Amino acid sequence: MKITIIYDNTAWDKNLTPDWGFSCLVEAYDRKILFDTGAKGEILLNNMKKLDIDPSEIDMVFISHDHWDHTGGLLDVLKKNQGSVYLPNSCKGADKAVNTVRINDALKICENIYSTGEIKHIEQSLVIRIGDEVAVVAGCSHPGVREIVGAASRFGNVTTLVGGLHGFNDFDLIDDLKKICPTHCTQYIQEIATLYPEKYIPGGAGKIIAL
Ligand SMILES: [Zn+2]
Ligand SMILES: [Zn+2]
Repeated sequence: MKITIIYDNTAWDKNLTPDWGFSCLVEAYDRKILFDTGAKGEILLNNMKKLDIDPSEIDMVFISHDHWDHTGGLLDVLKKNQGSVYLPNSCKGADKAVNTVRINDALKICENIYSTGEIKHIEQSLVIRIGDEVAVVAGCSHPGVREIVGAASRFGNVTTLVGGLHGFNDFDLIDDLKKICPTHCTQYIQEIATLYPEKYIPGGAGKIIAL
């Protein structure tokens, strides 16, 4: 399993354009899932090109929540790909998508890949199971990291967390994780890196996380 950050507030790979927003490609079990689409389609597609990611080869798009910095590139992706779009019920738009799947409750998307369901009527997170363990990809974590990890736990032991964690400062929760990549809107990246140096993975566009 591999997660490639395509769009982020910072650039890990200096050839890529940093911009406020988030998107990553999750490759697991022979599926390519585009998680969120950043703020601007042009930057998204450009960064994809530099990362050798062909938008037409994406199997599905997963939208965490209806904020512009996560949905902004969706229409541009849909021009190049008409795969299924999984979006939380609270997410408007995406009318140009041919196959939309609206998410309320937790859902098995395919073998070993799940949605937490829409939590607190705002956001869903992507869950990938690897044996007894699961990795969680979060957009902004508006419902709260504890709620997201709790919802993902039904699918296995949460050991990896990647994405935007917003104002998350409940750091004890990281004790149970093996890896954490706090990025995008995460306010306390530095604190997490300092407290858990052996678990911390820096984010940024172009960062590849192999699990
Ligand atoms: Zn947000
Ligand atoms: Zn955001």
